[in-house]
Amino acid sequence: MDNIKIDPETSCWEWQKHKNRKGYGKIRAFRKTLSAHRLSYTLFTRADRTTDIPEGAVIMHDCDNPGCVNPTHLTAGTQLDNVADMVAKGRQATGQRHGSFKPGKQAVWLMCFLLGQGRTHEQVAEELGMSVAVVIRETTRGFTGP
Ligand SMILES: [Zn+2]
Repeated sequence: MDNIKIDPETSCWEWQKHKNRKGYGKIRAFRKTLSAHRLSYTLFTRADRTTDIPEGAVIMHDCDNPGCVNPTHLTAGTQLDNVADMVAKGRQATGQRHGSFKPGKQAVWLMCFLLGQGRTHEQVAEELGMSVAVVIRETTRGFTGP
């Protein structure tokens, strides 16, 4: 595919064609201009997801590279997820993996969301950079009330 250059280090699929001012890949199809990463997400990952891109959802880059269209780097979420994602990444940077750490409301919400999508506690813990014990403790509490 000459539209895409694969970065051997990050495994990002760098979109080579038109990009907008923010660096997002653009593709003309169906008489519309589509976001290349949204199209990629729909084409490549729909089979193993429960739904299409939900109404009003944003496609987030796990790799923080707006020009990337690697479907394995893309996650569908809401604007709230986008914020929670930043929160989680900020936490990851400070390396809070130990069991006594108390995540914020948004992080707990995100955990429940990810579990609801069929991920295991281990996968959620890995994605958010938290210990499995914290994820289990917080999400169990989240489901049973305060
Ligand atoms: Zn990427």
